[in-house]
Amino acid sequence: MISRRDCEILRGSSLFDIMQKAYQAHILIPAFNVPHLPIVEPVVSALKESACFGLIEVAYADIDSFNAESFGAVKQEYRGHADRAYTRLHQDHVPVIDQDGKRLDWKRMIGEALDHGFDSVMIDGSRLSFRENVEVTRTVVEMAHLKGIPVEGELGAVLGHERGPLPPYEELFRSGKGFTDPEEAKEFVKETGLDWLSVAIGNMHGAISGAAKNRKKPRTRLNIRHLGKIVSATNVPIVLHGGSGIAKESIIAGIKNGITKINIGTSIRQAYEKGLREAQNVNAAQRLVKDQVRDLIENYFNIKESATKLAAMITDTSKLS
Ligand SMILES: [Zn+2]
Repeated sequence: MISRRDCEILRGSSLFDIMQKAYQAHILIPAFNVPHLPIVEPVVSALKESACFGLIEVAYADIDSFNAESFGAVKQEYRGHADRAYTRLHQDHVPVIDQDGKRLDWKRMIGEALDHGFDSVMIDGSRLSFRENVEVTRTVVEMAHLKGIPVEGELGAVLGHERGPLPPYEELFRSGKGFTDPEEAKEFVKETGLDWLSVAIGNMHGAISGAAKNRKKPRTRLNIRHLGKIVSATNVPIVLHGGSGIAKESIIAGIKNGITKINIGTSIRQAYEKGLREAQNVNAAQRLVKDQVRDLIENYFNIKESATKLAAMITDTSKLS
């Protein structure tokens, strides 16, 4: 738990400011996906108990491939448990083109999240050409900024959602194929006006279909030198998708070098589904999720009490101005 004063400071801050401070101070903000509605409660209580600030997020894939139901249903569930001192609600991946090559009505989905009062949104135009990605992302920035809502965009190919086998990971990593290009990233940020950039630097999504979705994710790592080039070219908070199963050394170095938000989906989803399968009981499954989230916060990301640090950062700058 954090002090009453720190609670008030965080509750009164915009997510845009919190992310900006986190970026400056190298404090990680974890974002947990909700593929099953009962996941919201244990994630929020783990954040509170660890005095950690984090996001709850839901992607189109959480609704389409799992049981998140709808953006409205997640908002409803979130409202029952949330505390602005510790969490905000983010709309993760709204893909313009999904993993099967189908075009989606991205404008409607973004509009839906904005109407439901989400605190931030993400548009994923990474399967488009660079020019089209710029156009679509810029449109979303216009829509969201009208309401004062920050936007995450994506450049580069974060693989893993596609059906069928992927090329061997080591081969992908060594070749740097699909990695976000720093020069393109610079232009992308400038032309779209986005707030946070999701990049590909060795990270991979967990599978969402077939037998692979129940298997342990392959271990991945990050090219920190490449990350450094993207950060110097863009100077915006960097987002890392596919946060489950990345080597801990890579995560720690990534946070030191500009990664501000990490998405975690697969490991908590699998904990929840395992609980349901083995105990046939939602409460037991929720307990596994809570343990998993606390373990990630305290032993993997090492961000216990980040809420206190963020509140101190925010007071510091308000004293200066
Ligand atoms: Zn993602």
